[in-house]
Amino acid sequence: MNFVYQSPQNPNSHLTVKERNQASFPVRFLLQTNLIYGRVLDFGCGLGTDVEYLRNQGFEVTGYDPYYFPEIPQGKFDTILCLYVLNVLLPEEQAHVLMAISELLQPDGRAYFAVRRDIQKNGFRFHVKRGVNVYQCNVRLPYRSILLTKNAEIYEYRHYNRLPHSNPHNCPFCAPEEERELLTESASAYAILDKFPVSPGHALIIPKQHLASYFDLSFHTKTALWLMTDRVKELVSEKYHPDGFNIGINIGTSAGQTIPHVHVHLIPRYAGDVENPRGGVRGVIPEKKDYL
Ligand SMILES: [Zn+2]
Ligand SMILES: [Zn+2]
Repeated sequence: MNFVYQSPQNPNSHLTVKERNQASFPVRFLLQTNLIYGRVLDFGCGLGTDVEYLRNQGFEVTGYDPYYFPEIPQGKFDTILCLYVLNVLLPEEQAHVLMAISELLQPDGRAYFAVRRDIQKNGFRFHVKRGVNVYQCNVRLPYRSILLTKNAEIYEYRHYNRLPHSNPHNCPFCAPEEERELLTESASAYAILDKFPVSPGHALIIPKQHLASYFDLSFHTKTALWLMTDRVKELVSEKYHPDGFNIGINIGTSAGQTIPHVHVHLIPRYAGDVENPRGGVRGVIPEKKDYL
């Protein structure tokens, strides 16, 4: 499997790369404003022009590109650049890039996403010079915009639990504590370990939107939650090596919901962790769990 998911429907995105002989506009802007520091990762670096430029300026820079520089980046980074990458990716691929970057970022680090603002038409188009179909789309992120021109926008991303949140519902999931380790994050959801785990690696996948019932979420948000659940399953498996999983959502106090903000429980299971696991989630009604 690839380090970051690439859809078979979008095999030519690497051909949208542009050859440049100077640093890109976002890199020049971020340098001018002193926003690049520490260990730097250029995620989707293409041919690596910005990587080379920043190295010559004395920065410690790693370049990653699934096609041109496929070596998987190691460790965490203080600054991550993701410049004009999301515009050429399908929505599902974008979500995976956002998750990967959140996982590679130091808890107090910052990532910068540059997206194009001059795209007239969303979808596949014929790239005359390359002779293939390539995808492009407009991208808007719920992150802080630090620059908007008629051609481009730059967003600054920090981990969700490092941002100030107005929290009118006084809800623990609308304003997760800074000390909690963020497992991963996308534009519409994030994941953390449960504060009172029922088993090692018990994780919660939480939409950013404050809604009590799973059934009230949009199709888009539901999709984002399940995409993230799959990703968290991989992260938990690497670290805890469970033998199985239960997935559960409590909807309504009668069903045991205590926090009125949707969350998916991903509960790793281990051989022998209970005397008789037969029936699994049926155990919410204990007498009915073990059926014949
Ligand atoms: Zn909430
Ligand atoms: Zn819960």
